[in-house]
Amino acid sequence: MGNNRGKKIALTGLKFDKKSSFMDGCAKGPPLVRESLYSYGTNTTAENGIDIKLENIIDSGDFEISDLMEISKIIDDFLLSGSRVLSIGGDHSVTYPILKAYSDHYSGIEILHIDAHPDLYDELDGDRLSHACPFARIMEEKLAVRLVQLGVRTINSHQKDQADKFGVEIVPMKRFSPERIPKFNNPVYISIDLDGIDPAFAPGVSHHEPGGLSSRQVIDIIGDLKVPVIGGDVVEYNPERDVSGITSALAAKLVKELLSKMVENG
Ligand code: MN
Ligand code: MN
Repeated sequence: MGNNRGKKIALTGLKFDKKSSFMDGCAKGPPLVRESLYSYGTNTTAENGIDIKLENIIDSGDFEISDLMEISKIIDDFLLSGSRVLSIGGDHSVTYPILKAYSDHYSGIEILHIDAHPDLYDELDGDRLSHACPFARIMEEKLAVRLVQLGVRTINSHQKDQADKFGVEIVPMKRFSPERIPKFNNPVYISIDLDGIDPAFAPGVSHHEPGGLSSRQVIDIIGDLKVPVIGGDVVEYNPERDVSGITSALAAKLVKELLSKMVENG
């Protein structure tokens, strides 16, 4: 268990959508988010004043993933080299192999997870690695000590049972206010499923679930974090459902805010 906490940050794209339950398309997302991130139509300074271009952030490009669990090796290599990792894309199944790698390098990981869905199914359509299941795997294998979920508005009785079993702290979308977000005590890993945001702001996702967080709320949730951020992912961007690149611009904005927060808080 090394404490090889990276000063460097690797930005990676994970082109993978084989664990999507409803429609594919997420595998095509990462290059488009990158294009928005570096677009001449905006700049690379985040709201905390940090210019991500001037920091020790290494864009390591996109990985074509054929088997989900390959991702653990990719992430492990970055962590071994002393980098933290922020990944773009894929469907949400990627968070399980990512955390599997992280748990070998960090202890006491707390997760901040933004999503319309709790992604706690024991299995979906017979698949325990579905994008509907990553947080069930993470919690049962104790890859994290704490899971805080925001934006959730689709919980059914099975997932309620799973949340109770794993002690998941869910701040439901109903009557959401930022004051209800629990405080973090340890370094956090942040996983953002873009469908946690209202489809009015983020139409480019496979599962449209109205009544979600606003772009502004999510940016402020990131901005208000006081603890170190060890890594993160922005997942489920599906360009086939996007409108005028609205969602890729939002994904890129969130990537920029997350990177700058990783720099700011260490
Ligand atoms: Mn999800
Ligand atoms: Mn979701």
